[in-house]
Amino acid sequence: GIRLAKRVQRVKPSPTLAVTARAAELRAAGHDIIGLGAGEPDFDTPEHIRAAAVAAIERGETRYTPVDGTPELKEAIRSKFERENGLHYELNQIIASSGAKQCLYNLMAAILDPGDEVVVPAPYWVSYPDMVLLAEGVPEVVEAGQDQRFKLLPEQLEEAITDRTRLVLLNSPSNPSGTAYTHAELAALGAVLKRYPEVLIATDDIYEHILWTTEPFANIVMLCPELNERTVIINGVSKTYAMTGWRLGYAAGPAPVIAAMKKLQSQSTSNPSSISQAAAVAALSGDQSCIAPMLRAFKERHDYVVERLNSMIGVHCAAGDGTFYCFPSMRGAIRNLDGVNNDIELAEYLIGTAGVALVPGSAFGLSGHTRISYATSMENLENAMGRLEKVFGCQ
Ligand code: PLP
Repeated sequence: GIRLAKRVQRVKPSPTLAVTARAAELRAAGHDIIGLGAGEPDFDTPEHIRAAAVAAIERGETRYTPVDGTPELKEAIRSKFERENGLHYELNQIIASSGAKQCLYNLMAAILDPGDEVVVPAPYWVSYPDMVLLAEGVPEVVEAGQDQRFKLLPEQLEEAITDRTRLVLLNSPSNPSGTAYTHAELAALGAVLKRYPEVLIATDDIYEHILWTTEPFANIVMLCPELNERTVIINGVSKTYAMTGWRLGYAAGPAPVIAAMKKLQSQSTSNPSSISQAAAVAALSGDQSCIAPMLRAFKERHDYVVERLNSMIGVHCAAGDGTFYCFPSMRGAIRNLDGVNNDIELAEYLIGTAGVALVPGSAFGLSGHTRISYATSMENLENAMGRLEKVFGCQ
């Protein structure tokens, strides 16, 4: 057979995409499946953003742009950081890429040498450990369970850092848990990181605007400005503006790291789509009132789903702070079901018996749980909760 690189053999394909594929397969065979696996808003991209893209096409903005983004987009990103986060960046500290995912990938490839360790709190976004592995790094997974609201504790961080640690990854609000660090919690993690000047920090702020805590959004640099010179912020328009298909993310951080990411991008994909860049300018600089109705819908669905889940026998769901995911513990339910021994078997059972597709917690590094995406209509959620209740029973 054909020999593939060891690099590829080290990683697994995205398990969330696998669930979506399995659901599609069953649907094609005539089964009625409700998908709660998707990681994207169910809304359309707002009208003024779509219009900006059409106008860009009509103006002929259909050619290569600078590798790291057009001057207009980089200016819009710079203003976003000033306006929303009180952070000042020079243009050589900013890069636009084909999604936050590519920013993260470029970052790992830019800073990791073989054997370098990356602290990854679990539950984590599925791609983090595999991206580390692709860059020949070593993911140091630290478990943060439901009892600590899925958030890394300062003493756990302290314990995880070794002299091989190159990067610590933070994601708040978090996919898959939906919880966000408080300002005090971030400051406490920052206090640990201040003692390790060799360690870089990546904060994945992609769910920044899908947050309903009374405390406003903050990331670790906003609270610990002294970490600014070694922190890379990752963000993008996918979730906030319902723009997953446009593939436009951005990063800001130390100029040498951003320059290295740009160099890698120049030899792989070059600039993100010129059309998407024009759309992102409209998203970041235009009217922000499109965000609130989507946020309201996510919050309403969150409240509904969490309440329904907690009324089911053997299911326990912590309330979230944002995103469009919740991450209930299914340990009791697994115990109660004959022939189901873990969260992966539970997901298989539920798709087969109840016609509900969800992603097992193991995919996010925390077994005994399941991730539920409520980025779908209330009607679908009502049906799905009804089906789950039939399987588990109601208290
Ligand atoms: N980071 C997290 C935590 C995510 O959940 C996602 C998308 O699922 C991404 C990054 C990637 O977003 P993008 O569409 O900008 O590549």
